[in-house]
Amino acid sequence: MPVDDIISQLKRFGAESLEPGVGVSGIDIEPSARDLVNDLERYPHAFVLACIADRRTKSDIAWSLPLALRKAAGGFDLDALLRLPEEEWASVLASSGHPLATTMARLLPAALRHIRDRYGGDASRIWADGSSGAAVARRFLAFDGVGPKIANVAVNILIRDFHIGLTTPMPDIAVDTHVLRVFERLGLLDRLEHSQLRSIRDKQGLRLQLRARELSPEWPGELDWPAWHLGTKWCHAGRAPECGECYMGSVCPRVGVASSAGAGS
Ligand code: SF4
Repeated sequence: MPVDDIISQLKRFGAESLEPGVGVSGIDIEPSARDLVNDLERYPHAFVLACIADRRTKSDIAWSLPLALRKAAGGFDLDALLRLPEEEWASVLASSGHPLATTMARLLPAALRHIRDRYGGDASRIWADGSSGAAVARRFLAFDGVGPKIANVAVNILIRDFHIGLTTPMPDIAVDTHVLRVFERLGLLDRLEHSQLRSIRDKQGLRLQLRARELSPEWPGELDWPAWHLGTKWCHAGRAPECGECYMGSVCPRVGVASSAGAGS
């Protein structure tokens, strides 16, 4: 199957699997928590906090955190949040179930201070009109605790789910274990047979980014959501992939997948 056909189908899946009007895709949180993180007009810092917290935990925990903070602060303007005492931050984070609660109780107020000091309290200036995707990713990277994965995911969400118009160069794909696995099984990225495990992991992450740039130069990060979503929905890591159910079943070469997987497809 030509690579172009696989990429077209992957992008089609990405577009069709978005839920119009719900904002951030792929999370299942209570409506008031969703309303808050979707309110980029009044509370753009809610989006930033959730992105920073979306690490080593279930996304639902991270994206529900702004609402828990609003309840604790009695409001969600920047000053109200910054007035929250340290113990209150620690308490909200500990109750959230976030495995990095202690770290987040330090990083999230630091993020608000960065928004206050660098952006005059208005986080939407991070993605100000006329910005390129690369510039917005670079601005996210300036937050303490934000690495390339979170920075690229944040910008890709802004473009994909909030239709924020950014110019080229657009953001990269975010290196993620699900995305890597799906790229390998779709035959888009060869596996490496190197002697050092760390070398494989690091290089394969970089190769994934470069490959996405080759395959989707106008917006490499467009491949992020559909590959991640496939990896969590059908193309599992710890059990056999459900190829018979998978959207990509008709075009996927199933590289490295045991022939019994997806029986019935
Ligand atoms: S067809 Fe199977 S191997 Fe290919 S992406 Fe879907 S679940 Fe993964």
